[in-house]
Amino acid sequence: MPEQLEIAQLGNPVLRKRTEGIPVPLRSPHLHLMDNMLFTLKNVNGVGLAAPQVYVSDKLLIIAPAPNDRYPDAPNMDSIIMINPHLKWLSPETEDGWEGCLSIPGLRGIVQRALSVEVSYTDTSGKSNNIRLSGFPARVFQHEYDHLQGMLFIDRVKSTEYLATEKEYIRIVQS
Ligand SMILES: [Zn+2]
Repeated sequence: MPEQLEIAQLGNPVLRKRTEGIPVPLRSPHLHLMDNMLFTLKNVNGVGLAAPQVYVSDKLLIIAPAPNDRYPDAPNMDSIIMINPHLKWLSPETEDGWEGCLSIPGLRGIVQRALSVEVSYTDTSGKSNNIRLSGFPARVFQHEYDHLQGMLFIDRVKSTEYLATEKEYIRIVQS
């Protein structure tokens, strides 16, 4: 049975470290980690999760854009597990949008992100893949990819005036 993992929060040094590449083919500790991360992500209404957020400093992330209480307008997409992802291309077109982070509960911020990205990664079967993402899934990817470099969305807001608590964020988006 997969288990619910504890989420590291802002202030823990694991969130500020650059992650290590994962040897492929995957061995059982990483396979278990992926199962547990998927399970955890579903339980906490997240749209993405990176390994440092569960105290593991490895290059592994999941993007799982789907509508939930925290992101009601998210598109419904199958989750993608990316091992050793590499950001190959960012579109010059950008978009401002609200982000939150499971590791920074209660806070939201407006972050400028590339509208589209091209990414290469290894999948769970050890195969190399290339994918192009646009819009919300591209935003989720860029957010999770930042985690692998020890970066957080609060580092990306143009100014602290672009931060809001969850309560005020709900007020803003509902107005
Ligand atoms: Zn995050």
